[in-house]
Amino acid sequence: MSVGETSQVQTELFSLAPEERPGVASALWDECQRRAFSCSSCPLAATRKTVVFGEGNERSKLMFVGEGPGADEDESGRPFVGRAGQLLTQILSAAGIDRKEVYITNVVKCRPPENRTPLPEEMAACDVFLQTQILLIKPSILVLLGATPTKWILKTTESISKLRGRWFDWRGIAVMPMFHPSYLLRFPDGKKQGSPKHLSWIDIQEVYKQWSNVKTAGRLEGVNFG
Ligand code: SF4
Repeated sequence: MSVGETSQVQTELFSLAPEERPGVASALWDECQRRAFSCSSCPLAATRKTVVFGEGNERSKLMFVGEGPGADEDESGRPFVGRAGQLLTQILSAAGIDRKEVYITNVVKCRPPENRTPLPEEMAACDVFLQTQILLIKPSILVLLGATPTKWILKTTESISKLRGRWFDWRGIAVMPMFHPSYLLRFPDGKKQGSPKHLSWIDIQEVYKQWSNVKTAGRLEGVNFG
C-alpha cells in the first residue's frame, strides 16, 4: 500500500454511504495488517523477528503512538510489553484508562537494532501503515509518546520537554505529546513536583478528562490548542 493508495483509500472510504463504511474499513484494516506482516520496504525487515503492528480497540477514540518495538515487543509481536510498556499500562490504569479500551502502536513496526532511534527513511517507509491506522481508527485524541513520534507527526524540531502537556490540532485530531515511558524509568522518584513522572501524571489526567468528554459529550471541552 503506497502513500498514493492511502489517500485514494481515504477518498473512496468517505464517498461510501455511512452504512457501507464499517465493512469496507474492516477489510482495509485486514489488508493493511497483512501487508505490514510481509513488508520489506526498509532495512529493519532484515533484523526483526516479528512485525509489531499494534493492539487494542480499533474503534477507540483514544490512540497512542510510540517510537518502535524493543526486544520484548520484537519477541512477542505486541507493542509496549517490556518494562516501559508495563509502566505505560500502570500510568493508564492509575488514570482510569483500561489499556484494552485504547489503540497502541508505533511509528515503525519493526525493531531498530540495539533500540536505536528509527532513521527518517525508515519512518517514511513505514508511515503508510501508521497513516492508514489513524485514517481507519479515526481517533479524537492522539497521544504521542516521546520525541520521535512527536517530531514525526507534528513536523517540529521543538524538544519534547517544551511540547509535552500541550494540545495540538493535527488534521482535526487533538494531539497531546507526552514523555516516553522508557524516559520515565530513569526517574524512580515520581512524587517530586515538576519531575518527568509528575508531569506525565498531569498530562495523562488531562488526556483522561478529554477522553471522558469525547465519550459523554462527543467532543473535547475547554481545550486551548498550541
Ligand atoms: S519498519 Fe515498517 S516499512 Fe520497515 S520493514 Fe517494518 S513494516 Fe516495513
